Amino acid sequence: MKDDYLTGATLTELSSALAAKKISSVELIKAYLNRIAAVNQTLNAFITVDPAQSLAQARAADARIARGELGPLTGIPIAHKDIFVARGWPSTCGSQMLANFVGPYDAHVIDRFNAAGAVNLGKTNMDEFAMGSTSESSWYGPVRNPWHTDHVAGGSSGGSAVAVAASLAPAATGSDTGGSVRQPAALTGTCGLKPTYGVVSRYGMVAYASSLDQGGPFACSAADLAVMMNVMAGFDARDSTSLDRPPEDYSRSLGAPVATATAKQPLAGLRIGIAREHFGPGLDADVEAAIRAALDALTALGARLVDISLPTSPMSVPAYYVIAPAEASSNLSRFDGVRYGYRAPEYTDLRDMYCKTRAQGFGPEVKRRILIGTYVLSHGYYDAYYLKAQKVRRLIADDFTQAFKACDVIASPAAPTVACRLGAMTADPVQMYLNDIYTVPANLAGLPAMSIPCGFGNRGLPVGLHVVGNYFSEAQMLGVAHQFQGVTDWHRKKPEEVA
Ligand code: GLN
Repeated sequence: MKDDYLTGATLTELSSALAAKKISSVELIKAYLNRIAAVNQTLNAFITVDPAQSLAQARAADARIARGELGPLTGIPIAHKDIFVARGWPSTCGSQMLANFVGPYDAHVIDRFNAAGAVNLGKTNMDEFAMGSTSESSWYGPVRNPWHTDHVAGGSSGGSAVAVAASLAPAATGSDTGGSVRQPAALTGTCGLKPTYGVVSRYGMVAYASSLDQGGPFACSAADLAVMMNVMAGFDARDSTSLDRPPEDYSRSLGAPVATATAKQPLAGLRIGIAREHFGPGLDADVEAAIRAALDALTALGARLVDISLPTSPMSVPAYYVIAPAEASSNLSRFDGVRYGYRAPEYTDLRDMYCKTRAQGFGPEVKRRILIGTYVLSHGYYDAYYLKAQKVRRLIADDFTQAFKACDVIASPAAPTVACRLGAMTADPVQMYLNDIYTVPANLAGLPAMSIPCGFGNRGLPVGLHVVGNYFSEAQMLGVAHQFQGVTDWHRKKPEEVA
């Protein structure tokens, strides 16, 4: 079987090829590793590949397959965002602070993939500590967009998005605190899902803003996202915010996402909320055109568009950029040069060691967040900023509760523009923060949300359709996306070969 076929295949196709013994897991992993070796220098999607460890897992998977123990992901390579701690693998979080840190245990998500017999293909590049919207703040250098290598990949899970977009991996994991799965998915033409808060365990996922962080999958189709969710989701007693719910099959609604579906109109009866706040100044015309065309395709499938309002949503970015840095400043206090990670080579006393370690080990964006977070939590400012932001957060969640009385899902752009040029926003952090306007509300409210490819904008760069659902409606959202992907082929488009 040719490498080309393998590197463009869906999870389901790969699994059938493995089941039919057309290919072994070892051959599959070698094909992907060859491809990574050929193009990673250009794209910088992976921080670590370790062929010896991946191939050992592949051999174990082949043995399982030979014994007839074949699950949907057995023997299949999955790339993991370097925010997930994995035993025996460098787990850097894109930071010099953790450059020398090798995982002593497995994150819950890694555990689940291992138990499913999946193969860890490598650890992907990301914004330092997941702080950013472009994947340029990594200590390992920026990730490049395979559609135009002088453009950004989106962030912070840019490496995972690019790995899937450029067929360096059939699927990948990411984390989403304010859009870090959905926004890079949109900017690279891949599918990405942020589950309901609490559905995927955060155990072993380096903490950025704990009340917002949620792991989620990247893949080439909604059906593949469902396969990934079936492995990633589930209760874990080691995460106090993990939800103890009965396991569910995320593929169950792919064929009929609404009860009133008909053969001709699979989305008949589905109400798609369109918020007036989402289509206004700041949204680029090329992005809006692609979104409108996607909405037409959805209505042709039977869905009905309903006007809704999310009046507090314009306040989501200011609220997020108080709450997320506040939690980050607390979470990142553990990087002190004592417990693990980087320690400044020269210092005079303990205090000097702390100061030099953190001054040298963290990059500028992380320091900015720690400063903002420490400030908004400090005595005298707490009520004015942090408490106020928490109140806005509640209003944002209430907006959604209100909106979901009138609609089943809410559709919007995932980002106001296509991917910008490398370096275009690094000098203006506020401009970068404003890019998160469509994605952060779902994190503040804890709702599930996804981005699926829906066309191309300026310079032939991908546009993503953002869909937010009510709590625990992932299966339905995936069904809606699956039906959309049955009548469109945006998700099948691949960038020209990058060399
Ligand atoms: N861009 C947002 C931030 O920098 C979101 C990042 C994320 O989801 N990890 O905080």
